[in-house]
Amino acid sequence: MDYKGLIRQMESLKRNSKSFITEDSDPIWQADVDALDEAMDIIADYEKVTEQLSQMIQKYEVEKDPIDRGMGVYQCPDCSCMVNLGHEHCRRCGRRLGWMPKPKARPAGKTGKGKKKARR
Ligand SMILES: [Zn+2]
Repeated sequence: MDYKGLIRQMESLKRNSKSFITEDSDPIWQADVDALDEAMDIIADYEKVTEQLSQMIQKYEVEKDPIDRGMGVYQCPDCSCMVNLGHEHCRRCGRRLGWMPKPKARPAGKTGKGKKKARR
């Protein structure tokens, strides 16, 4: 079950618990509703953080070839800033740069994003 599935299930539990709340009901039902709200917030935050981490890894750890403009001039594939031959990262945006010809291995990741074509 993914995060969205977990949240949907917890929403269902919350509706169920809420349906038991009356003026003289056991306070456990309200406590369940409150706990589910907290848990759903934590899951939503966790999902955001893991997405941000994945984007950061793609940018700062996965190499992308600089754009070769000829005559020893290279540009960052993300921000187009001039980059110096051999530098590991773009000094402006931090993009990880790859300089060596590599075998075609796709970086690990669920989306396959971040594999843009170099602009010409
Ligand atoms: Zn850059």
